[in-house]
Amino acid sequence: MGRLEGKVAVVTGAARGQGEAAVRAFVAEGAKVLIADVNDTDGKKLADELGDAAIYQHLDVGEEADWATAIERVTGEFGLPTVLVNNAGILHFAELASTKLADYERVVKVNQIGAFLGMRSVVGPMTEAGGGSIINVSSVEGLAGMPFLIAYTASKFAIRGMTKVAALELGAKNIRVNSVHPGMIDTKMISDAAGGIEIDLARVGKKVALGRVGKPEEIARLVVFLASEDSSYCTGSEFVADGGATATHALKI
Ligand code: NAD
Repeated sequence: MGRLEGKVAVVTGAARGQGEAAVRAFVAEGAKVLIADVNDTDGKKLADELGDAAIYQHLDVGEEADWATAIERVTGEFGLPTVLVNNAGILHFAELASTKLADYERVVKVNQIGAFLGMRSVVGPMTEAGGGSIINVSSVEGLAGMPFLIAYTASKFAIRGMTKVAALELGAKNIRVNSVHPGMIDTKMISDAAGGIEIDLARVGKKVALGRVGKPEEIARLVVFLASEDSSYCTGSEFVADGGATATHALKI
């Protein structure tokens, strides 16, 4: 029996990258999954490939009305959601002095407001279901600062903080809430944010203790753990998977 048998999950930003890897791992462990994204083409393709265990729903995480539709859809097709992965995220590179307000707001709307709306949307259904697990994907930028990432870093610190508030409020309802902090992971997010330029991730990967960047599947395994009963006593916590990136500080020789 899979570790997620009987679970109904909503995964945002699930059409590709780490979200896609989480969806594949969830289905392999027996969950039913609503794949939510704004990338309808890739999202539908993934749902078609996975058959009865997954459905695709267009969901812009920053839009309140989209959340209501998505929760209604998943409840109607699979039952009350018991797992939410707030994974959708965008990146914007710019130094503080030249960061436009519109870009700052765009990042916060997806990364921070998206996670807020997502958590708020599942409180009712998860309470009715008798409990659940919310997994908020932050970053190492939710633990330490990074130049040229003012908006992203703000949003990822916010996710870490909101996770703790939600965990404290929802523990009595048997809803666990944790944050995940990946280091550099091999997806298209960074090259997309750099305007499509291919970035040599391997060079950056050499700087961490494990000497390489991470794979989406390595984050997916952590997310499966947090979604499953294996993590039944974990809430309000930060789960770091960064190859050792945050084990040091800037003063290393
Ligand atoms: P990705 O760009 O491959 O995937 C992000 C997905 O989110 C895409 O499918 C995209 O269409 C979707 N998305 C964007 N805006 C959306 C919106 N408004 N509503 C719904 N979906 C939306 O990136 P990824 O690397 O898989 O990132 C997944 C998460 O992991 C993000 O929250 C990201 O910040 C975080 N993260 C990534 C890295 C990394 O190095 N790749 C490191 C740390 C944290």
